[in-house]
Amino acid sequence: MKVLLSRDVIQARVAEMGKEIARDYAGREPHLVCVLKGACTFLTDLARAVDLPLTLDYIAVSSYGAATKSSGEVQLVKDLDQSLDGKDVIVVEDIVDTGLTLNYLTNLLRNRGPRSVKVAALLSKPSRRLVQIPVDYVGFTIEDLFVVGYGLDYNEKYRNLGEIVVYGS
Ligand code: IMP
Repeated sequence: MKVLLSRDVIQARVAEMGKEIARDYAGREPHLVCVLKGACTFLTDLARAVDLPLTLDYIAVSSYGAATKSSGEVQLVKDLDQSLDGKDVIVVEDIVDTGLTLNYLTNLLRNRGPRSVKVAALLSKPSRRLVQIPVDYVGFTIEDLFVVGYGLDYNEKYRNLGEIVVYGS
């Protein structure tokens, strides 16, 4: 499959994003909320690139199943373990496509008393947006392509690829 983003390109951008976050949150302790499962790989690299004390939690939602098109329905599959009260939350997402997942998630998390909620996404496909949602840190803006690798899957496969490739190309 055609490589869209090589390992080196991804690693360099994630390192930059970590520096941006460390600069913006200097003197604070961000609480990173990883959206399972796709964002796991990004989260582990990003968290290590942020040179600040921080905490992590995990949440899972389902919206796609085995298809490459959104059903438009978002369901909470696994909730957070920790309270968000007074925390500076950064939602860590693999890719923002229609925006439905992040819209649902940020609304849910904002109702739990955090001090702030921001979003870090490795990839964004702005041409596919159905809901306009601010994404504070974006790794790469990409065309309307279905991509896999670096945590992203098709039917649960390809998550372990080190690069991001165009599915089926
Ligand atoms: P949204 O709710 O449409 O923004 O979709 C977000 C979720 O859809 C992401 O967290 C991914 O799990 C999945 N998704 C969207 N586009 C792709 C893609 O190109 N490859 C793999 N998963 C994708």
